[in-house]
Amino acid sequence: MRADVGGVAVAEGHFVNGERLDSTSTFEVRSPLEWSTKLADVARGTSEVADLAVGAARDAFSSWASLGVGERASYLRRLAELIERHVEEIALVECLDMAMLHDSLRERVIPRAARNFRAYAELAERYSPRVWNSQGTHNEVLRHPAGPTVVITPWNAPFMLSTWKCAPALAAGNTVVLKPAEWAPLSCSLLMDLVDEAHFPPGVFNLVQGLGEEVGARLVADPRVRRISFTGSPETGRSIALAAAQNLTPFTAELGGKGPFIVFEDGDLDAAADRAAAMYDDAGQVCLAGTRLLVSEQVLDSFLERFRVAVDRHVLGDSRDPATTLSPLIHPEHLARVEGFIARAVAHGDRVIFGGRRWREGQLWYEPTLVAPHSNDAEIVQREVFGPVLTVQSFGDEAEAVDLANSTPYGLSAIVYTSSQSRADRMARALRAGTVWVNCFLVRDLTAPFGGIGLSGVGREGGEYALDFHSDLTTYQVREATTRG
Ligand code: NAD
Repeated sequence: MRADVGGVAVAEGHFVNGERLDSTSTFEVRSPLEWSTKLADVARGTSEVADLAVGAARDAFSSWASLGVGERASYLRRLAELIERHVEEIALVECLDMAMLHDSLRERVIPRAARNFRAYAELAERYSPRVWNSQGTHNEVLRHPAGPTVVITPWNAPFMLSTWKCAPALAAGNTVVLKPAEWAPLSCSLLMDLVDEAHFPPGVFNLVQGLGEEVGARLVADPRVRRISFTGSPETGRSIALAAAQNLTPFTAELGGKGPFIVFEDGDLDAAADRAAAMYDDAGQVCLAGTRLLVSEQVLDSFLERFRVAVDRHVLGDSRDPATTLSPLIHPEHLARVEGFIARAVAHGDRVIFGGRRWREGQLWYEPTLVAPHSNDAEIVQREVFGPVLTVQSFGDEAEAVDLANSTPYGLSAIVYTSSQSRADRMARALRAGTVWVNCFLVRDLTAPFGGIGLSGVGREGGEYALDFHSDLTTYQVREATTRG
């Protein structure tokens, strides 16, 4: 069955072993832009479907794994080309499904998905094993495809994030079962149309739709699965770690963030203020966002003045309108969660400087909000809100900035504004974060390691790190005098 989503026919079923599987059991998908609009009734995966999909991935594994790396790379490149050709439909469907800004999807986010496939095609082809001599032996590191891989993804930027995780698995020679988030499952369904059009062998790349605690939990508990690659919340990360532990299945987890945004007195305050205001983009539903503004007390007032001006430039509205800069939250439950954070903050003595309320009753927009916490231990400082909510605190010197920055259980990203290279170097070494950006943000080189510390994640993906994760490594040692033949 296909639903008409903004004029695009989106399959509502799973995609297993090269075929669509419809289901009588479904869940509703609604648009955050207009909650009364139902977009689709998507298949609600069961244990049977999960088992079938892993079985298909298992059956397809040995022939996919034994294809030459160049042949696998050509499938990935074909898929990249098809994504580029279908950017418009994918961007529109994802915009309606999760309300990310349409222009940003079309120009940046969906094209990045194509880049993910191209980048891993190239990296896999370029791989040359480490070779060295030691103690009279010739040594080599051999990479073997690991096996069927389950990829579980969240609802923010679901198409791009899913491809970021599936591309290295496929390039490494693993087969994949993807389970996207139930709050935004539609764009990944379009991806399967393209997988079909690219003539991937059946079973190599499968999609199962459904609820995390049902079909997701079944997938990650399957002993036939040899890798789990997860992006989502720390809470779900824990459940997946427990399931993975049962079968000793290696997993990576890219989890939540509570990044510091540090502004030193020698930083470019205009640039910092503009960038800080951009932390509200996508309604703050960005794991990498720097949501804790930490500002040198010497420039706090002048920074906040500029920041307020930059925030006031935000335009709340329909994500399809090019003038809009601030989209609604994904779901009424998520809006209620964000509201809960603010209500508790106020009850505990934190001060809302601006925002702190819905834009319009009955809709899912929340105003950009800034909170001055009563203490660094406040919940609003220590827990990820994942909405358009920032906090602001001041610091006296660099040591205090580092202490505040490193004071939460998360460690995904950190952003620093300073004009001093030596301070930048010191901060990069002192901050506890998977990525530190100085005077920039979201510059993503796909070969760089990506991941988090503490509650922000386990393991690293990106570049060779992801290819290693998706492989079983063999250290091959042969006595140098061994004759060939
Ligand atoms: P979530 O953890 O609720 O869900 C993520 C996925 O896990 C969904 O597909 C869900 O169906 C599935 N799931 C839920 N329970 C499961 C279970 N028991 N077993 C298997 N799968 C299960 O996260 P979310 O609300 O979709 O996404 C928001 C979170 O994701 C935020 O914390 C955000 O910071 C994080 N995130 C992190 C990154 C990163 O790169 N570090 C990127 C994007 C989002």
